[in-house]
Amino acid sequence: MSEPQTQSFQAEVRQLLDIVIHSLYTDKEIFVRELISNASDSLEKLRLKQLTEKSVYQGDLPLEIQITTDEEAGTITITDHGIGMTRQELTDNLGTIARSGSKEFLEAMKEKGDANASVIGQFGVGFYSAFMAAEKVEVFTHSWDESAENLKWESDGQTGFTITEVDEQPRGARIVIHLKEDEKDFAKQDTLKRIIDKHSRFVSFPLSLAGERVNTVEAIWLKSKGDISEEDYKEFYQYTAHAVDEPRHTLHFSADAPININALLFTPDENHERFGFGQMKAGVSLYCRKVLIDAEPQGLLPEWMRFIKGVVDSEDLPLNISRESMQDSALIKKLNSLLTKRFIKHLAKDAKSHPEKHEEFYERFSRFLKEGIATGHENHEALAGLLRFESSLSDEGKVTSFDEYLTRAKEEQDSIYYLVGLDRKSMEAGPYVEAFQKRGIEVIFLTDNIDDYIMETLREYKGKKLVSANRSEIELDELPDDDAKLSEEESKDLVEWLGKTLGEKVESVDMGKRLVSHPVVALTPQDAPNGQMRAMMEAMGQAGPDPKARLEFNPNHEIVAKLNELRKEDEEVATKVANQLTDNALMAAGLVKDPSSVIAGMNALLGALMK
Ligand code: ADP
Repeated sequence: MSEPQTQSFQAEVRQLLDIVIHSLYTDKEIFVRELISNASDSLEKLRLKQLTEKSVYQGDLPLEIQITTDEEAGTITITDHGIGMTRQELTDNLGTIARSGSKEFLEAMKEKGDANASVIGQFGVGFYSAFMAAEKVEVFTHSWDESAENLKWESDGQTGFTITEVDEQPRGARIVIHLKEDEKDFAKQDTLKRIIDKHSRFVSFPLSLAGERVNTVEAIWLKSKGDISEEDYKEFYQYTAHAVDEPRHTLHFSADAPININALLFTPDENHERFGFGQMKAGVSLYCRKVLIDAEPQGLLPEWMRFIKGVVDSEDLPLNISRESMQDSALIKKLNSLLTKRFIKHLAKDAKSHPEKHEEFYERFSRFLKEGIATGHENHEALAGLLRFESSLSDEGKVTSFDEYLTRAKEEQDSIYYLVGLDRKSMEAGPYVEAFQKRGIEVIFLTDNIDDYIMETLREYKGKKLVSANRSEIELDELPDDDAKLSEEESKDLVEWLGKTLGEKVESVDMGKRLVSHPVVALTPQDAPNGQMRAMMEAMGQAGPDPKARLEFNPNHEIVAKLNELRKEDEEVATKVANQLTDNALMAAGLVKDPSSVIAGMNALLGALMK
């Protein structure tokens, strides 16, 4: 027999262990679930091996999980006859952090110090959680590979682990948890039975405690809704998602045509991507008649639906389908399309019946819905219907939707108007909204930096064009003009002078009726990319020259009237003022790349005024 081999944990594992042991779960008992899940995964892998390998070590061993305890000694033993581990696998799997998810989790924890419990719950740190309750863990194992050694891995969860060759072991893994003195309660059968009932009812292999069968292997997703309680759903969600939170949405449905499908889908409580925890991993497993085909099937759901957890079962799947061919199969595409539609429909229904619940969900998960619009060609309208935003007619802090907007829109209105900006306040104070407000037309306020892109991708909603309120093509009704400060004749002359004076700087100059409190506004042509969209194109080197704006001056504004006087008395200063007004408007429109040129103009103007 070879000598025992002692190795240190990878530095990250030590950090992870530190977090797991000291601050991870309020619910320590979760470790039982994590180890049972590992045993179940291992059995699942063995079942697949038996389909593809010529021979598997001790091929007759039953695919089940046995748990025994020794109250006196304070130990729990979990045995499975799954794939087991070789020496190398013991080091790789139980000595390093191979999973990128755990790495990101660690980094985020380091940065944030503490994260909320439901976020942590979604990580399922797995095997290492045993050390929340154990002072020592032993793993006895023999791999499915005949030629592998009989081994014991052993660690106190502090600095490292030792691997020793041992007497003959059956295939699979036997994990012995030596409980800490004050955690010995976990070795009591009643306690353990309660924990298993709560967290591991849905394990898909027979599970016994002290020789007694404790679970019924049932595919809850194949049962009819009437036979499932809310509690069942919640526990199943927590089991499949390795979670401790409650699902926000539960969607359980089945269909026979055009394809057979039984699906049970959940949305989690929290979106941990928004805390910088890295991309969520797809969490919906694919089954065929209760048999797991793939725990992480590619292409079953579109990428943006990666936050969804659950199970999809289809009798139409060929059992021997390979992962590679599956992704492109017509059946997966059909399932994908059907699941996406049903899920969006469910969200829409839920948003209608529980608007506040939807708002809370939206606050956390809106990025995914927008990603769905940005990356796919289908379901645009349905996804757009789920969007929420404030508008010029909503109270501050209250959101509205496109559908609600349309109920308030004027009969002849053929567009939905929106504006993208930093926040509601600055958009309300800016020059674009007031013209709409004066005419009782609602303007949607968008504040997410991808919203420009999203609106330009959507283009329309229910037949109404989506139009940014800063566009020059927008035709607004004339309103009666009671307090015009310039006559029509004067306006015409001033426009002519401004056009000559500003020259190439702008596309055109006009007097308009949009403005109330601002002297001038810069409008962007419809076909030019807007704000963030242009910034993105610039970053990709595809922006081209800046679009030239159309200026609309306000004939009722004090400054404009005075400018008209000034140009007759002191054309030089008037020219500087006209340029400055223009720069201000271009700046408000986000059309000035180099603010220093504006400051130079401003200084020249100040100089001229103080002569
Ligand atoms: P996860 O299960 O999420 O990958 P864990 O930390 O729980 O992460 O486990 C790490 C790895 O150790 C597993 O991916 C698996 O390869 C291996 N492992 C854990 N338990 C067992 C077991 N009972 N049998 C075989 N391999 C196991």
